[in-house]
Amino acid sequence: MRYDILISKLEFFGFHGVLEEEKKLGQKFIISAKLTIDAPNAVEEDNCDKTVNYSDVCHMIGQIVEKERFDLIESLGDAIARRILVEFPLVESVTIQVDKPWAPIGLHVDNVSVVITRGWHNAYIGVGSNMGDCQANIEAAVKYIQESEFNRDVKVSTLIKTKPYGYVEQDDFLNGAIEIKTMFSPEELLHFLQKIELDLHRTREIHWGPRTIDLDIELFDNLIINEPDLIIPHHEMHKRSFVLQPLCELNPYLIHPVYGEYLIDLLSKINN
Ligand code: ATP
Ligand code: CA
Ligand code: CA
Repeated sequence: MRYDILISKLEFFGFHGVLEEEKKLGQKFIISAKLTIDAPNAVEEDNCDKTVNYSDVCHMIGQIVEKERFDLIESLGDAIARRILVEFPLVESVTIQVDKPWAPIGLHVDNVSVVITRGWHNAYIGVGSNMGDCQANIEAAVKYIQESEFNRDVKVSTLIKTKPYGYVEQDDFLNGAIEIKTMFSPEELLHFLQKIELDLHRTREIHWGPRTIDLDIELFDNLIINEPDLIIPHHEMHKRSFVLQPLCELNPYLIHPVYGEYLIDLLSKINN
């Protein structure tokens, strides 16, 4: 069963702010939170071990507000949201409001606040390599993904050997797909994957040319994104069996949000 826990106006004293006097003197911060929980048995069994202990959440929020220091209340709110998602696995998404009623703006003001929302998303990443030890390159990329606290429940498909696509004068590829739960936004996930590509010495000399590692976002929830540097679903996924096949192995019920068709049906169209 899904339900929300609301926490209103927890008061703490902290040292967040850009100004020197804020860092030295400190001031009042008030935190409110909305946690969306997916706990299958808590309500049916009336069992507090199967839900989220809101007292624990409140004390954890206090630790962050009182012990850590941020210039921005945006960063404070995001740090609280991320910690709740990591520490309380039943929380699907969380909205944090940080109030700063004593904000030194030189005017009488009742309150200044920011509201930040983070949650777990289902994303699918296509991975390919055709330079050096391809298996080791892919394993290294998976390790980076697993080790980030922004990701959990990482699953990797069988890796398949495929002929190069587009630019054919190069070695065969090893391709696969990775399923993750992630609290990154789509743009943050793209930047995170690009950083892994850089760390694994990916260069871009020839379009569709040889590479140690290529990490493409294939699907992100059922979002459709059309930005200059980010297209989701990946613009060619419906044409590529080396992408669709591993995705279908991970989850045969995936639907392409633009075409409204099961990936497995798109795959059989290419193969026929
Ligand atoms: P293809 O995208 O056709 O598979 P490629 O993977 O070789 O080709 P790259 O050089 O890795 O292409 O990426 C080119 C640009 O694609 C990146 O700079 C990135 O901004 C953009 N891009 C757009 N949508 C996505 C996506 N869904 N996943 C990854 N990169 C994307
Ligand atoms: Ca690619
Ligand atoms: Ca790419």
